[in-house]
Amino acid sequence: MKVEFFKHNLNEQDIQNAIDVLHSTFLTTGKVVDEFEKKFSDYIGAKYTIGVNSCTMALFLSLKAFNIGQGDEVITTPMTFIATPNSIIEAGAKPVFVDVEPDTGNINAHLIERAITERTKAIMPVHLYGTLVDMITIRNIANNYKLKVIEDAAHAIEAENAFYKVGDYGHLTCFSFYPTKAITGIEAGAITTNYKGLVDELYMMRNHGMNKDASKRYTDKYEHWEMEMFGYKANMTNVSASLLLNQIDRIDENWQRRNRIAQYYESQFGDMCMKVPPDCKPARLMFTILVDADKRDDILHKLQDKCIGVAVNYRAIHLLKYYRETFGYKRGDFPVAESIGGRTISLPLYPKLTDDEVEYVVKCVKEIAC
Ligand SMILES: *Cc1c(COP(=O)(O)O)cnc(C)c1O
Repeated sequence: MKVEFFKHNLNEQDIQNAIDVLHSTFLTTGKVVDEFEKKFSDYIGAKYTIGVNSCTMALFLSLKAFNIGQGDEVITTPMTFIATPNSIIEAGAKPVFVDVEPDTGNINAHLIERAITERTKAIMPVHLYGTLVDMITIRNIANNYKLKVIEDAAHAIEAENAFYKVGDYGHLTCFSFYPTKAITGIEAGAITTNYKGLVDELYMMRNHGMNKDASKRYTDKYEHWEMEMFGYKANMTNVSASLLLNQIDRIDENWQRRNRIAQYYESQFGDMCMKVPPDCKPARLMFTILVDADKRDDILHKLQDKCIGVAVNYRAIHLLKYYRETFGYKRGDFPVAESIGGRTISLPLYPKLTDDEVEYVVKCVKEIAC
């Protein structure tokens, strides 16, 4: 048996929708993107969505929308994909890491306050694997210190708890539609917000600061566009939007399947699993186990020898070469993130995984890692 680490979930209808756009006049940003933005806002329960070409650019534009750049600091987690802190560097600011909780791997909200300086402008929490960060504590700190909150929700489309949903407490919330995420537009992302004051600017910022995109310039009587502000190149294409549209309708059924698999893994792997707080509905984008640090890489290779796809999400970012050399971070700075980063293994988790494949993964992990 061979178990892929991940399989996307595009179906024939999604592919046909993309073909229809490819046969049409407007391939890039236009009506299909508008349609996607409305539908995604409804799903998330946000007032506005701005479709962009990646979550990385969504995070970057969010920082720029708040004029964050040179000389500023943004607080985030070392237990995430490098896109999160890289977007801060790209904006010209400094990523300041705060250690994580041992159970969830999420940023430890109670350690944030001591990392705040006069230069701190924003907090960028990540809902790791789809488990919600403690957003109430974060929003209270942000209010006290007048900081912006930009949620990295790349793992967390479906996440909610008894009190709030993903996106409710962030000023801006960023999503990824990369192929390994819950829904995909190949290379695509989005920003959601309830703050009307940011919306027009973000629409312009995704497209060179122009106040009309190509489809609006050519469909009505020609009007000159204005360059209202400095902007970037981060617009979503109609092709991406066409792939995403119908996937939104399947988010919940796909989540159900991933959740059942994850619960079964939890029942089999017990203490090796990360924890989900009792009131949280986790998005379940990834499933990770913790093993002994000195055996981790050996276990990875043995699982691969059994033809099981595995990954590491993530090694602690502050120990990666660029971050060590650029910011002087070193081993011991964030011990909990280092511990998780040294011990974690990601197992296959996606709706197309069959029961037989799940059983095979469980059997091999028990044989090799327990
Ligand atoms: C995938 C991912 C991103 C980047 O998404 P792109 O759409 O590929 O730019 C950002 N943050 C996290 C936590 C991710 O997993």
